[in-house]
Amino acid sequence: RQAFTILEVQELNVNYGGIQALKNINLTIQKGEVVTLIGANGAGKTTTLRAISKIVNPKSGEIIYSGRNITRRQAHEVVKLGIAHCPEGRRVLARQTVLDNLLLGAYIRANQAEVKRDIQRQFELFPRLAQRRNQLAGTLSGGEQQMLAIARAVMSKPKLLLLDEPSLGLAPAIVREIFSIIENLRATGVTILLVEQNANLALQIADRGYVLEAGSITLTGAASELISDERVRKAYLG
Ligand code: ATP
Repeated sequence: RQAFTILEVQELNVNYGGIQALKNINLTIQKGEVVTLIGANGAGKTTTLRAISKIVNPKSGEIIYSGRNITRRQAHEVVKLGIAHCPEGRRVLARQTVLDNLLLGAYIRANQAEVKRDIQRQFELFPRLAQRRNQLAGTLSGGEQQMLAIARAVMSKPKLLLLDEPSLGLAPAIVREIFSIIENLRATGVTILLVEQNANLALQIADRGYVLEAGSITLTGAASELISDERVRKAYLG
């Protein structure tokens, strides 16, 4: 496979008022890769995803996606270009049904026949959601809501999926299920940037990783190298 850089973040700085959340972040993702960002609470992982999906505006630096500079694009434009953000805390629409949440994920798409077919595909991938298609999303279990959040993001047909803490607060069996779904997504050609507190799991699934500490990238490498790195083991693998 020909290497193709799908995302390049250059010297990115993000401030929240007086707090500098990201300091000169550089990262690169090749098409088809799963790349993970690991780091402690408050290190800036979520902020990195928010800057890429344009929920927050960087103070300086550039974000290049598929050769296009998207630094000054708006969030809805970025979705259209093929970047989907599955936020931390799931954020499904609690008072809408599973099916309506999935349809909402596809709001940018014009071809309704294709949307219908893709909803069927999501139901095959997530049988729990198929059984609950007419149930209100707010009544789903935490794991099912996480599945719905991922399925909804996939409904926008992303080329690059930003996944924030998919395992947060979930029981181990559900976490395994979610990670096998992430594997399946990768197999369909979606490139994934994965933020995880569970560094062990993340490094098992990822090709490469970046370690964020207090807003700066302090370490990067192949996941197989990071998992055996003494500093990573001490700080994140317990
Ligand atoms: P966590 O795993 O706890 O979500 P994180 O690595 O994702 O942590 P961020 O959420 O990106 O970290 O936060 C980075 C820094 O920016 C933190 O110091 C945080 O307090 C601060 N921050 C994040 N969002 C805001 C905001 N909306 N207003 C002010 N400060 C913020």
